[in-house]
Amino acid sequence: MSTFSALGIREDYIKSIKEIGISTPSEIQEKAIPILLNAKTDFIGLAQTGTGKTAAFGLPVLHQIDTESNHIQALILSPTRELVQQIKKQLFKFTKYVDEKIFLEAVFGGEKIDRQIKNLKRTTHVVVATPGRLIDLIERGDVDISHVTTVILDEADEMLSMGFKQDLNRILKFTTKNDRNIWLFSATMPEEIKKIVKTYMEPNAPRVEINPKSLVNENIRHQFVRTTIKEKTGLITTFLEKRGRQRGIIFCRTKAGAQNLAVQLIEEGFSAAALEGDMQQKERDKVMRAFKNESLQYLISTDVAARGIDVRGLEFVIHHQLPEQTEYYTHRSGRTARAGKTGISLALVLPYEIERVHEIQKELNIHFTEVDV
Ligand code: AMP
Repeated sequence: MSTFSALGIREDYIKSIKEIGISTPSEIQEKAIPILLNAKTDFIGLAQTGTGKTAAFGLPVLHQIDTESNHIQALILSPTRELVQQIKKQLFKFTKYVDEKIFLEAVFGGEKIDRQIKNLKRTTHVVVATPGRLIDLIERGDVDISHVTTVILDEADEMLSMGFKQDLNRILKFTTKNDRNIWLFSATMPEEIKKIVKTYMEPNAPRVEINPKSLVNENIRHQFVRTTIKEKTGLITTFLEKRGRQRGIIFCRTKAGAQNLAVQLIEEGFSAAALEGDMQQKERDKVMRAFKNESLQYLISTDVAARGIDVRGLEFVIHHQLPEQTEYYTHRSGRTARAGKTGISLALVLPYEIERVHEIQKELNIHFTEVDV
């Protein structure tokens, strides 16, 4: 087994990451860090969330920053504001014991642009951004990316499926003259991503793939229970009661579904709140804060709202209904069993949906057990 020191990570960083529980490199870290630290190169990392990819690109990019300069040197693009804030926070923690100050700024839609503009006027070395907001800032002339030498695309497949294709292309074009490198991270490699790779990246960029066969974390126990629409809420309350103080996320397919279930659970006395895309940013932040600081026990969420969210110590996720796209099953169940712990992913299944369970089993190469709640 390797160590961060052997991979080339500086001692001051090792001290900081140890404090947040990162002491032995994960697979993606072991494979990506030596490449990214030692060569100026484009890079492709095929890895899902929960594998430790933030540190895999975050530590090398921080090592590169020249703090003598006050230019923006690295851009990290990620699909949602929650992810952007999360990445910035992690990177900030990584720098705790670093002497020279590295300045990080997060910019994302849904928050007043004026405040972000004001922040960007201060020295900034790394910008973490959602593509749409970054384009706004570039167009207004409020951010100078002409000195950027590393562009990191995090969850590239998700950025494309959220409609950021044009924005991404424009950002990559803007930075072309800088002789910059692109580090692309994605769980999957659809055609659209291959196009980006072909258009903007070196043809022989190193490529690292993590667990290509089983994209799903092996510490998750996959279960399903046969039920009816009417029985679902009762079944969920029984499940939650049995699990006492354990925490988890319940996924719904629709925003209204999430809100309804949250209301029902709150009426039953559970500590629950909805998180969905129609809610105001302020409200979403409030819910996420409460969930992270454990004053809220259950999150009732839609797929997009909970994308990539990293909350520690979740013992279970419940699928109020199975997602239409199989990859969402991977994303949802990946919220539990993080950082080496085990967790349960429980799907509520109507009689006619059993076929869907079999499909998911086959596509993801996992096994479901039928249970009674
Ligand atoms: P990520 O895949 O980057 O979203 O990371 C998922 C979670 O795993 C975060 O909470 C990290 O702090 C944690 N983590 C990252 N790398 C390691 C590691 N090598 N050992 C233990 N935990 C880690």
